[in-house]
Amino acid sequence: MTALAVHHLTVEYRRHGGGRLRAVDDLSFELEPGETLALVGESGSGKSTVVRALSRFVKPQQGRIELDGGRNPHEYRRRLQLVFQDPFASLNPMHTVRHHVARPLKRHRRAQGRQDLETRILDLLTSVNLTPADEVARKYPHELSGGQRQRVAIARALATEPRVLLADEPVSMLDVSIRLEILNLLDRLKRERDLALLYVTHDLATARHFAKDIMVLYRGEVVERGPSDAVILDPAHPYTRILADAAPDPQARRGAPTTASRALPRPAERREASLDTGCKFRARCPFAMAKCAEHPPALPVGGDPRHTARCWLLAPE
Ligand code: ADP
Ligand code: MG
Repeated sequence: MTALAVHHLTVEYRRHGGGRLRAVDDLSFELEPGETLALVGESGSGKSTVVRALSRFVKPQQGRIELDGGRNPHEYRRRLQLVFQDPFASLNPMHTVRHHVARPLKRHRRAQGRQDLETRILDLLTSVNLTPADEVARKYPHELSGGQRQRVAIARALATEPRVLLADEPVSMLDVSIRLEILNLLDRLKRERDLALLYVTHDLATARHFAKDIMVLYRGEVVERGPSDAVILDPAHPYTRILADAAPDPQARRGAPTTASRALPRPAERREASLDTGCKFRARCPFAMAKCAEHPPALPVGGDPRHTARCWLLAPE
């Protein structure tokens, strides 16, 4: 049973100088309970806009979002929770850890009376390895490390017993040494609680390790998607190949980016004007051809219908 289904989501922002920027373009996907889907792409590709639309902070121009059991807005907020990038900004410096975790428990009536509330707070803190929980509960954010704050943010998200968890670059602001601990924690909680997890990241190595499937976003559009190993080890879209070549994955790819990816124009240099139609990547693409002025459909890669890429190179003659 699908926990969250997104159909043809399109989100536009007003540009400063007038006109509109399409930050998410016709995006469809599903999240399954107990599984992680990674949304990867470089900065500005629209990842956080997807999260904002799913959490109803921005209103989509088009599309439909269906959350299992979440028709009513209060229930939607209960069933879909977030973990943000910045553990320093996401906690209120004026309040204790207890307060942060108690709030969603009270708001969504997850506790029966004072004693039950206290038990639940301590259980949640213990489940994210913040122990001794009663000591941690009395602390203020400034008394915690970045990793501990992110654990509080995770405990708070779990308080409402969500079905879907959206984690937007949850470790990119943490010390490298504790990133894996936090990702392992999310992975364990996902399994224990049968959560549907959307893992937003620009890091292909952890996407491959923690997610069952990967979607690669380029300028608001999914250019490639499929089982994680297939997308990372056998990328079909030229953009995914560049990302994979640049990724510091010690297992799969060693050393510096390839000559091909170094020779490519950087995002700032790309010509945008003529890209209203056709493949959005073609100004940066080493394989661009005349056909690329037409918008490519999602085509199967290597005979696997679960692995698709939006590239004319995959089209039979
Ligand atoms: P990512 O999370 O992948 O870095 P974002 O979703 O934050 O990407 O941004 C996607 C695009 O939308 C970027 O070009 C960004 O500059 C633009 N953008 C994001 N937020 C706004 C906003 N509030 N108003 C206008 N443009 C925005
Ligand atoms: Mg972002």
